[in-house]
Amino acid sequence: MKAEDKKIIYTLLKTADAYECGYTREKFAGEPVFANDTELSFPGSTRESRQNRDVEMSGSSPNMTQGLSLDELNAKILRCTRCGLARTRNNVVPGMGVEHPDVLVIGEGPGHDEDMQGLPFVGKAGVLLDRMLAAIGLDRKSNCYIANIVKCRPPENRNPMPDEQAACFSFLEAQIHILKPKMILCMGKIAIEKITGQNISINAQHGEFFEYNGIPVMPTYHPSALLRNEELKRPAWEDLKKFKRRLDAIKAN
Ligand code: SF4
Repeated sequence: MKAEDKKIIYTLLKTADAYECGYTREKFAGEPVFANDTELSFPGSTRESRQNRDVEMSGSSPNMTQGLSLDELNAKILRCTRCGLARTRNNVVPGMGVEHPDVLVIGEGPGHDEDMQGLPFVGKAGVLLDRMLAAIGLDRKSNCYIANIVKCRPPENRNPMPDEQAACFSFLEAQIHILKPKMILCMGKIAIEKITGQNISINAQHGEFFEYNGIPVMPTYHPSALLRNEELKRPAWEDLKKFKRRLDAIKAN
């Protein structure tokens, strides 16, 4: 708390006490000296550490990952307390899959089941995602890696806040740098907007190709959206077929 806030509270208490008692009591006779508290918070949340972190992390994934294996990077992610989601998570969910995948699948953030197990896309939406991937010959055990924009569960499955996405994004950048996927499939609006830095309408732009550092990126509907609305399954399937054609072409070259 800042010194001036403490002084305001002190003055209010003093006034209330004097009003109740009809006089100023001894304990309020002298004016104490107020000082600013040291900033209480998570590592990385003070201005100085934020600046240090930004220097270390922002846009510097190659440097950050220099010499780091995927396991070492993910071990770093597991220890992270950089944003407020660290306070409410049960487990960090760095990602899952093979180290040199054809495809990186990016979701928004862990849900309840993922948070409990520490693994991405393991609930109902995860089962559907696995089926969608299998339909175009993809599998997290053999040729995919699955990660999220934020690695810790937002409470009540709310969307991750912009500051949480910003705090976590350098981890995903670093993962992409290590994984070097041939293509990226973004599940839903938040993933594609963060990857491209653009405002995207998922209804209007699903199935379009974008690019991230030279890697083709396609957004499609998040499996949770497909579970809520069956009618989206047909356009999602068309997206996946288009995605596979492009992947096949890349692999053929
Ligand atoms: Fe760290 Fe990302 Fe978890 Fe926030 S969401 S605590 S930045 S790993």
